[in-house]
Amino acid sequence: MKHSRPMMAFADADGRIYEHPDLEMLGWDGESWRSLEDDELMPLPEGSDLFTLPGRLAAGLDAATDEPVVFDEPGMTAVSCFIAPAYLRTLLPAYETLEDAPALPLFAYSAVGFRDGQLVAPTIRVDPDIRQDPFRFDVSVIEKNVEARVAAMPDNRLVKHLTRCALTYHCRAAQNYFLDRFEAPLPAAPTCNAFCVGCISLQPKGGDEQIVAAHDRIGFAPTGAELLEVALGHIERVGDDAVVSFGQGCEGEPLSQPRELEALVRGVRAATARGIVNLNSNASRPDVVRRLLDAGLDSLRISTNSARPDVYHAYYRPKGYTFEDVRESARAVRDAGRFLMLNYFVFPGVTDTAAELEALSGWIDEAGIHMVQLRNLNLDPEIYLETVGESGRGEPMGIVPWLEELGARFPKLQFGYFNPPRKNMTRRRDADLRVPV
Ligand code: SF4
Repeated sequence: MKHSRPMMAFADADGRIYEHPDLEMLGWDGESWRSLEDDELMPLPEGSDLFTLPGRLAAGLDAATDEPVVFDEPGMTAVSCFIAPAYLRTLLPAYETLEDAPALPLFAYSAVGFRDGQLVAPTIRVDPDIRQDPFRFDVSVIEKNVEARVAAMPDNRLVKHLTRCALTYHCRAAQNYFLDRFEAPLPAAPTCNAFCVGCISLQPKGGDEQIVAAHDRIGFAPTGAELLEVALGHIERVGDDAVVSFGQGCEGEPLSQPRELEALVRGVRAATARGIVNLNSNASRPDVVRRLLDAGLDSLRISTNSARPDVYHAYYRPKGYTFEDVRESARAVRDAGRFLMLNYFVFPGVTDTAAELEALSGWIDEAGIHMVQLRNLNLDPEIYLETVGESGRGEPMGIVPWLEELGARFPKLQFGYFNPPRKNMTRRRDADLRVPV
């Protein structure tokens, strides 16, 4: 179907969003603003949020002159969207930042515009798994199940913590735990040995950038018994397709609790062979990773913003470890023959560069990485570009062409967004990267 040109969106001081009658939509590829092709856009996925960008002016294209124009009507601001889970953003919003503009909160900002009167965004679905599709969550059922679970496990502090995650933070993983399906979260650690610029669970009070953490970090370390009760209960109710995972947004680094984690893995594997015991981690402690593999850990998902040590160190600001330790953990999973994934924070102009493609290809080759989960990095774009510096940036290839090149190099490599159950660990990747919607 032939669509009309996408038009720029902007907002007034009350947050009402409008379609500009003349200026076309632009996107930012991390290096420059550019116009968008029809096939780059799709209707804004259900479950996405819209944001006004305070202190920032929208930029659009004057089709008559083919020149970008900054829309500086008094009181009007730029807008952006935070795309729903399972979707990958391919372009940032195009805007001009005014002096004294506040730092943007910890979200992944994507371009958004209007086409044929409908909101559209440059995005692709990267995982067919429906576990976090918004229409699948009935809050009244979740509330009822939370009440019953807390009554059944009154002394388990972890269950109480997950109650807050499910009902206050609306964490889909915690909600799925109370709905007895898919993946259950096992937050285990109040501390971390990294200091990520965009950490969503801990931000320095009164920091320069005034960034606020999206969650309060868990304030205690659950015991092995509390973790085991939650994990075994979930596997029993869900069966083979169950996944239980350490390393959630509301905690620090799970590897900082080695004894509890090892007790949990041994406890689960002593009780059942069903389900997947997964670790989401910064993989900073290969010694602990090996202990967990010996105990029966099934999969490791390593969080990273890059396969380049300098870009990694600039963002993670590791304390007492280096990127080489992270690679050693990956090798340990390879040698143990378990499932290895990356929780890969994608950012236009940093990820889709030739330097990153070579570095990531080298790592996939060395460690035999099975899956790359494509996540949108949650940080004010200008703060991130400043953090990684000139060396972290490069000429953008375009997120989709970059992924297609990576996919061509590794035909067996899976792309996705969620930790797979056992049955999907051997899933062959579809020819087309885009998951049909
Ligand atoms: S590794 Fe995780 S918990 Fe630690 S600072 Fe980074 S985002 Fe925060």
